[in-house]
Amino acid sequence: TNAAFEERMAALEGGSGALALASGMSAQMVALLTLLEAGDHMVSASTLYGGTYSQFDVTFRRMGIDTTFVDPDEPENFAAAIKPNTKAIYAETLGNPLTNVLDFEKVSDIAHAHGIPLVVDNTFATPYLCQPFAHGADIVTHSATKFIGGHGTSMGGVVVESGQFPWDNGNFPMMMEPSPGYHGVRFYETFGDFGYIMKARMETLRTLGPSMSPFNAFMFLQGLESLHVRMDRHCENAQAIVDLLVDHPAVSHVLYPGLPDHPGHEAAARQMSAFGGMVSFRVASGRDAAMRMTTTTKVFSLAESLGAVESLIEHPGVMTHASAAGSPLEVPDDLVRLSVGIESTQDLIDDVAQALDGL
Ligand code: PLP
Repeated sequence: TNAAFEERMAALEGGSGALALASGMSAQMVALLTLLEAGDHMVSASTLYGGTYSQFDVTFRRMGIDTTFVDPDEPENFAAAIKPNTKAIYAETLGNPLTNVLDFEKVSDIAHAHGIPLVVDNTFATPYLCQPFAHGADIVTHSATKFIGGHGTSMGGVVVESGQFPWDNGNFPMMMEPSPGYHGVRFYETFGDFGYIMKARMETLRTLGPSMSPFNAFMFLQGLESLHVRMDRHCENAQAIVDLLVDHPAVSHVLYPGLPDHPGHEAAARQMSAFGGMVSFRVASGRDAAMRMTTTTKVFSLAESLGAVESLIEHPGVMTHASAAGSPLEVPDDLVRLSVGIESTQDLIDDVAQALDGL
């Protein structure tokens, strides 16, 4: 069951192979620990899910893996942070929660000029809206917990390899030399364009253990059956909510890559077929009003997580991104994040309108 899920994810992303894991967090961990060891360095976008920020800034740092966080809106920032021991660039397709858009072409050119892969968390977009490999990325991760499963019932993650990266370029001896963790196999020589995903499976997953439950793989296979229909509806409903927000006096700023004045709009239009179901906005009267708003919606439930058929609302500053407080991520404290579901469009509009009017 897990293999069927892996093959479908590899096909949807246009990659050579995939590996199913217990959660999105473990997918990132396995993706990166397959490339980096103590003494290595990576450059990451600063605009990340709060748990990811802590994974890199706290847990990986304790393991001797150093990360420099940069503002992804200027691709040159990635180039400026690369050091001789840098082994990867990491970013989210659309940053959580600020919806920054990563310019894949520019950032992958920088990564490849330095002989390192671009690793992309494609959770917000899904392969239905964006295929990072088509724009130069080398490894994709997902929290399948979100849009892939689509019903908020199961935790899981996946890593996908493009099959295009030249692991024999001198920077990745771990891919070339005999593995002491798996019968002396040389992963790139033995498995070629799926050598990385085999190293992730046979060394990193096997020794650390975060495998996906086959029941969850079954649930994600069900989710994939309706991904295209759900994503169309998520995008349609999100656009309707954005249209309401941009005209509402209680809202000072709307962050949605579909808006022509969004700084990443041009890159999003080039890389994505539509702009997704995640909408963030700033409440004009500040933090307390933003927090109050999250408790006054009736259809949008107050909850972390995202990407399910039901609409969710949250305050990133005290919820998903509380652990990144004081970090370069700089989440404004008047920010509200919506995961727009697939319910009746009018019900969602009425709900957000009454909550904003109440402010
Ligand atoms: N990546 C993004 C963009 C997320 O928003 C999240 C969780 O919110 C994760 C990864 C982690 O996924 P999981 O909750 O499946 O561990």
